[in-house]
Amino acid sequence: MSKPRVLITGGAGFLGSHLCDRFLADGYEVICMDNLVTGDLRNVEHLFSEPDFHYHHQDVTEFIHVPGRLDAVLHFASPASPIDYLELPIQTLKVGSLGTHKALGLAHAKGARFLLASTSECYGDPLVHPQKEDYWGNVNPVGPRGVYDEAKRFAEAMTMAYHRCHKVETRIVRIFNTYGPRMRLNDGRALPAFMSQALRGEDLTVFGDGSQTRSFCYVDDLIEGIWRLLHSDEVMPVNIGNPSEMTIRQFAEQVLAITGSKSQLTFKELPQDDPKVRQPDITKARATLNWEPRVELEVGLRKTLEYFKERIELKETVR
Ligand code: UDP
Repeated sequence: MSKPRVLITGGAGFLGSHLCDRFLADGYEVICMDNLVTGDLRNVEHLFSEPDFHYHHQDVTEFIHVPGRLDAVLHFASPASPIDYLELPIQTLKVGSLGTHKALGLAHAKGARFLLASTSECYGDPLVHPQKEDYWGNVNPVGPRGVYDEAKRFAEAMTMAYHRCHKVETRIVRIFNTYGPRMRLNDGRALPAFMSQALRGEDLTVFGDGSQTRSFCYVDDLIEGIWRLLHSDEVMPVNIGNPSEMTIRQFAEQVLAITGSKSQLTFKELPQDDPKVRQPDITKARATLNWEPRVELEVGLRKTLEYFKERIELKETVR
């Protein structure tokens, strides 16, 4: 019997590339699609010698053509850090709306299962804490984060419409803050910023007074959750994230401890609409997917540190 075939849009990105690894390891033929706006071929270069790995350079907001059968489409293409969507607001809106439409159309035409990478940003600056899937959120549509939040909310609505009208088998994962190897060093997110700063001996830039909270999930845990969700029967959105919540100041201090850096914290202005709290309620993932995160923050941070050290050393040699 031939292998199942999966298309992963945004396959050269942080999460997309880990999904490529996982699906290849589990016996899939993988088509990785990216336009490299925020993705990076270095994330998948180790896969180019694999016969079951194919790379298609394409912008998914244009018509997507994939020859042959497809069993699953995982739509992960999108700028995904606050700095990226501030710099690429129109691309962010287009890939969440037009790109999701194209990816759903392809899944429909191929009779493939579709999984949407959605986000905790759908909850905005939440007034309910922790966030459960049935909370509708508190989003500012016209603020700087609106381009991402609203694109993903639209993408969820479009996904449900394809499920209801066209009977496409759809899944929606709401991804909470995730970290690990292959995050871009300069994407402006808390972990790459803090780790690069600590390794370079620079001060760590904590925004606001650092009392805002986040809950950080190691990438391997997230990938396992996504894998289980794709293979489950759950059509409505499912939160995947690590519920262990901390302030950003504590997180910065944890990075300092792991890196052994002597850097100090420096406080900068809090970006507009930066959520004050965030913590996933994962009751649903536990019950329907029998999933929960396993990697302790300290263990995950050490693995991530190895990657950052390598990348920062490589960069310095190149320079
Ligand atoms: N943050 C920070 N310093 C940085 C980058 C981010 O203090 O150099 C804060 C940011 O304001 C937010 C939190 O860290 O409160 C997490 O930010 P990130 O960009 O990683 O993701 P978000 O959860 O805001 O989408």
